[in-house]
Amino acid sequence: MATPTQPVDPSTLKTPLPTSPRCNIPSAPKIDWTPMQQEVRRVAKEKNAVVLAHNYQLGEIQDVADFAGDSLGLALQVQETDADTIVFCGVHFMAESAKIMNPEKRVLLPNLSAGCALADSISPESLEEWKERYPDHTVVTYINSSAEVKAMSDICCTSANAASVIRSIDNDKILFTPDKNLGNWVAKQVPEKEVVIYDGCCPTHDVLRGVSVEKTKSSMPEAIIIAHPECREDVIEAAHEVCSTSAMIDRVAKYPDAKTFIIATEWGIIHQLQKHYPDKEFVSADGCIGCRLHCPYMKMIDLPMVLNSLHEGFYEITVDDDVAAGARKSLERMLAVPRDN
Ligand code: SF4
Repeated sequence: MATPTQPVDPSTLKTPLPTSPRCNIPSAPKIDWTPMQQEVRRVAKEKNAVVLAHNYQLGEIQDVADFAGDSLGLALQVQETDADTIVFCGVHFMAESAKIMNPEKRVLLPNLSAGCALADSISPESLEEWKERYPDHTVVTYINSSAEVKAMSDICCTSANAASVIRSIDNDKILFTPDKNLGNWVAKQVPEKEVVIYDGCCPTHDVLRGVSVEKTKSSMPEAIIIAHPECREDVIEAAHEVCSTSAMIDRVAKYPDAKTFIIATEWGIIHQLQKHYPDKEFVSADGCIGCRLHCPYMKMIDLPMVLNSLHEGFYEITVDDDVAAGARKSLERMLAVPRDN
């Protein structure tokens, strides 16, 4: 079970928070909600809704959510909830996956424009073409993909379990889609497998170069660098730690004497890190906040949209039954595999 990464008033929750196994991780302090955040909590309770937020969401949304986490943590949380409605503060493929795992629940995405460039980099047609090229390969697809692509895949993975997913497969031949940077990183961890990698990428992460990280580090030579595996190889090579966003919260605890951390991923995670470690400094790897390590899709939802979603039921996610059945198999196979980190 993934660990919640921000505090909420337990009396407002429909889904009990799991107990943290990470006893060395300082819990985030209780925050004072704004009137609008209090209204979100009130309406969520009234409607028996759970609010989930990805670690890249705006801080005000992470703070008001029942649970904030990475893709794997959110997927697990979706399985646990007994709420009637899931308000998913993230991007479309995440809300779609929540619907696939909970067909009987109403899943809402507060802004339908919140897509994902990485998910868009692989279409059913392009996957079909790659599968024809590599007919003997087992298809492992990153969760950042459409329901149709998941349904055409053998198993899904996230950045938190990709190596374990590949090791769990009997076949030595793997076709990994769609993120080439994650694929290259994970292939090195499973040298016993032949991993063919699709050529998609996340533009938010792929834009960052190792020399930019080194430049940021030059003014803070003692800083610890933590990178997301969607980053390019030169960034990963410069990093002390490479992991999913929720695992970054654990990794900071490995360096009790370090004062400064350089974070190579979308800047929204810095909100969580700063809450857990108020005495430490977290610096975006591009040297500024919100310039380049900024996902425009993840920032398309704001607090009024969340409230509107709760009040009006905007925007309900639906998935074709046949597609959902295929995608569910790939997701369920993934969820049976333990987290790497
Ligand atoms: S950060 Fe990249 S992978 Fe994540 S939602 Fe944005 S575009 Fe997609």
